[in-house]
Amino acid sequence: MTDPMSALPTAVQWSHVLLAPRLRAGDIVVDATAGNGHDSLFLAKAVLPRGHVFVFDLQAAAIESTRQRLDDSGFSSDQGLTLIHAGHEEMSARIPAEFHGRIKVIMFNLGFLPGGDKNVITRTGTTMSALAQATALIAEDGILTVVAYPGHEGGDEEGSAIEAWMQTLSSTEFEVQKLAFLNFRATTPFVMWLRKRSARPPHTRPASD
Ligand code: SAH
Repeated sequence: MTDPMSALPTAVQWSHVLLAPRLRAGDIVVDATAGNGHDSLFLAKAVLPRGHVFVFDLQAAAIESTRQRLDDSGFSSDQGLTLIHAGHEEMSARIPAEFHGRIKVIMFNLGFLPGGDKNVITRTGTTMSALAQATALIAEDGILTVVAYPGHEGGDEEGSAIEAWMQTLSSTEFEVQKLAFLNFRATTPFVMWLRKRSARPPHTRPASD
């Protein structure tokens, strides 16, 4: 993690800074874009072995790279880790129903796999579908993080579409924030994060005599 006296956190670092104090051993969490597995490892360290980490990626190379990284740190599929070689738009169908509504954190790190095929990128349509599913899958007090990359073709439109949709979400159900550099190039990655608010306890009148 960043030295407190050095550069401000990057978008990816922010996602970890925001989540670290909220994750507990035993939590159920999802990495929606495995890539090279850095977020999966971060999540696994925080919640396993008692919890569960579901990991999605469209590319076999990303799933393998993530499996290797987790394996190197002693995390394996028989201990609360499920690696799913499929698009995150299949999230609701692929995560067993018993976990729906109980997920503490879902992370999205968009764009392409660094060092991989730059033509396989997250796409606005499937990203939006997955995000909508994710808001339903998280528990009360659950968190969604999205790192958006406006620097590549289509990434700008994708980030803007997510931001526009998040602005429409009910403020009684969700809190949503954006973290972005104000003075860097407009292509600099940024973070959006969302918390599902707790349902208000039913209003009860004090008993009167
Ligand atoms: N841009 C980040 C890394 C993002 S990795 C960085 O620079 O660090 C994004 C991952 O999302 C890639 O591994 C890619 O294969 C995956 N991906 C693309 N579309 C997807 C989809 N529909 N569902 C799940 N993963 C997807």
